[in-house]
Amino acid sequence: MDKRTTTETPRQLTRRELLISTAGIAALQTAAAAATAGATAATAAPATPAAAPTGPFTLPPLPYGDNALDPVISANTLGFHHGKHHRAYVDNLNKAVAGTPYADMALDKIIAATYGVADKSAVYNNAAQHWNHSFYWRSLRPQGGGEPPAALRQKLETSFGSVDACRKELLTAATAQFGSGWAWLVQDGGRLAVVKTGNADSPLSKGQRPLLTIDVWEHAYYLDYQNRRADYVTAVIGKALNWGFAADNLGSA
Ligand code: MN
Repeated sequence: MDKRTTTETPRQLTRRELLISTAGIAALQTAAAAATAGATAATAAPATPAAAPTGPFTLPPLPYGDNALDPVISANTLGFHHGKHHRAYVDNLNKAVAGTPYADMALDKIIAATYGVADKSAVYNNAAQHWNHSFYWRSLRPQGGGEPPAALRQKLETSFGSVDACRKELLTAATAQFGSGWAWLVQDGGRLAVVKTGNADSPLSKGQRPLLTIDVWEHAYYLDYQNRRADYVTAVIGKALNWGFAADNLGSA
C-alpha cells in the first residue's frame, strides 16, 4: 500500500490531524502487509476467497478469534459482523473507487475528501465504515474492561472527574444515538470527550482524534441482545473495552 501517500491536504483536517489519524489505520496497513506477505510466502494470513473482488482495500483479520469475546459478543455475531458486514463495506468500497482517483488515495484521505459530498456518498459511507470497523475491532479485547493504564486514567479523571463518569457518558452516548451509529472516546485538543456519530460518520471529520469506539448499529448486537442495546454496551464497557488501545492512541496535545 505504498501508493497511499500524497502531499495534498484534505479540507476537513489539518495535516497534523491526518498524521494523528494514521494511528487508527495502522491495523489496516499491518493487515495489508500481512496479506501481501501471505500471497507471496504462504504465511499464516487467511486465504482470500477466490470470488472476492480485487481492489486496493482488504478486510483486516480480527485481532482475536471469533469466540474470543464470548459471552460479551458471541462468535456468531462476530462472524457475521466481521465476515459479512465489514467485508461488504470493503468490497463495496473497492467497487466504488475502481477507475477513480480514490483508488490511489489513503483511506483517511478518501473519507476527508468525500465527507458531505452528495454524489460521493457511496464512496464516503463504505470508506468510513471500513475505517470505523477496523478501529472498533481494536477497541475491544478478550478479558477487557477493567481499569485504564495510568496515563490514560489521569486524563480521564481530569476530563470527566472519574473513570466511572467516563463509562457512564459512553453508555449514555451509545444508548442516546438514535438509529445506527457509533459512540466514541476522543481527544479534542488537550481534553478527552465522549461523542456520538450517526451512520458512518467519524469524529475525524470534526478534527477530533478517536481513542476508541463502540459500534451501536443493530448488527453489532442484535443476535445476542435483540433490542437491548444498553445491555450490549454495558457488557462491552465492563468486560471487553480495550483501554490499552485508547491509551496507545493518545496524542501529546
Ligand atoms: Mn458494524
